[in-house]
Amino acid sequence: MDLQEVSLYNTFTRHKDGLKPLQAGEVRIYSCGPTVYRYVHVGNLRTFMLPDLLCRSLEYLGYRTEQVMNITDVGHLVDDTFDRGEDKMLVSARLEKKSPEEIASYYTSAFMADAAKLNIRRAATYPHASEYIPQMVELINKLIEKGHAYEVDGTVYFDIASFSKYGRLSGNSTDKLLAGSRGEVDPRKRHPGDFTLWKAAGEHRLQVWPSPWGPGFPGWHIECSAMSMTLLGERFDIHTGGADNVFPHHEAEIAQSEGVTGHRVVSLWMHGGLLLLAGARMAKSAGNFFRVTELEEQGFDPLAFRYLALQAKYRTKLNFSTEGLAGADRALRQLRERVAEWSRQAGDGDQGDSWDEKFRAALADDLDLPAAMALVAELTRADIAPAVKARLLVSWNRVLGLDLDRSSPEAALPEGAADLLARRERARAVKDFATSDRLREELAGIGVAVTDTAEGQTWKVAGRTT
Ligand code: AMP
Ligand code: ZN
Repeated sequence: MDLQEVSLYNTFTRHKDGLKPLQAGEVRIYSCGPTVYRYVHVGNLRTFMLPDLLCRSLEYLGYRTEQVMNITDVGHLVDDTFDRGEDKMLVSARLEKKSPEEIASYYTSAFMADAAKLNIRRAATYPHASEYIPQMVELINKLIEKGHAYEVDGTVYFDIASFSKYGRLSGNSTDKLLAGSRGEVDPRKRHPGDFTLWKAAGEHRLQVWPSPWGPGFPGWHIECSAMSMTLLGERFDIHTGGADNVFPHHEAEIAQSEGVTGHRVVSLWMHGGLLLLAGARMAKSAGNFFRVTELEEQGFDPLAFRYLALQAKYRTKLNFSTEGLAGADRALRQLRERVAEWSRQAGDGDQGDSWDEKFRAALADDLDLPAAMALVAELTRADIAPAVKARLLVSWNRVLGLDLDRSSPEAALPEGAADLLARRERARAVKDFATSDRLREELAGIGVAVTDTAEGQTWKVAGRTT
């Protein structure tokens, strides 16, 4: 299959760059994964949808993909920016009276189950940070040798002044960093912005490893340099994460990986926009979050969240609301019913190709899924053979992951209803209310009660709302 040119927004260059895989036709991706000390919320899952959509889109466009997503099970401190506070894993272990390993294994399984509910496909590999300590120690040794790191009392710091590109990714200057740390500086650091590569164990008794600098544990940032380069090599195509990972996590990762290798390691940096709840960032620590299972308990299809997320550009912030989710849930069920109805109809046509070209073009333009979803809506209203519509939607579902081909008999509309509903939507679009009223009656006659809402028509079949 021919490969389509793809452009992706690169946080590092601050514009869309053409994707040029290092190995022809194959895109190798590293994604920051969860810190497994609590349940993931739908904000985290939105970030994990980014590499999923990236891989699905690239595969649709003819590329092969390899995705690595790490599991952080050690070293992520409560305060990322200044390496302060307790390790998140140990806080949970203490609160839940379990070992860090038990905590990690429980929340890793919960993460996998929650991700599966959103049809987030599994990565090829899920490295656990705690299994890569020797590789981290080796990197830190090299950084010390090359003059990028220094040790004080068993703790090793990265010397940001030794790396001239430091601050390029996030646009953080050393002055800004100084301002941010006022009054709270670790006196052993040469510069307040220096970050920890290895932390002396101190009072810690759990999750401690021997090292050339004495017993301790790794900093969060070195973990991703070690896992990404061990599994994908010293150069790979794409690194993904959430917008809040740009600084300090990815800024630090660039300094470490490039400090050791002396060259660029990641070709393209992609970051997903944050999910907000009532205007504030959804966060585990703030407690203002929903798990996908909670949405399910409220009666929503988990994939309604995926549908909602697909309607916003992956890089923008997205405000989550139950009303928005309810609209997405209705639209998704309706779409599935139409696909089921249209698939039952015979017929063929060649109008499909130009639609598919547009769909591909949207994906290739920095994963423009809102444009792809607009195309879905346009297609449902278009005057082309229903069988062609169904075929296209089932094919696009390989990227959208909305189970559009899921046919649930209890949800099915009566014969002919989907067509009447589509005709009625078209009539309403051109303000032909006489026709839309007549179609409403016709639908009522076959047991489908239609209501008009701000988002379009909704309907009820045999006592069930869709
Ligand atoms: P954590 O488990 O805290 O390391 O977070 C896992 C991922 O979720 C990170 O890549 C974060 O960038 C991302 N993340 C955290 N909060 C949000 C949010 N409100 N919206 C989107 N992504 C988030
Ligand atoms: Zn990471």
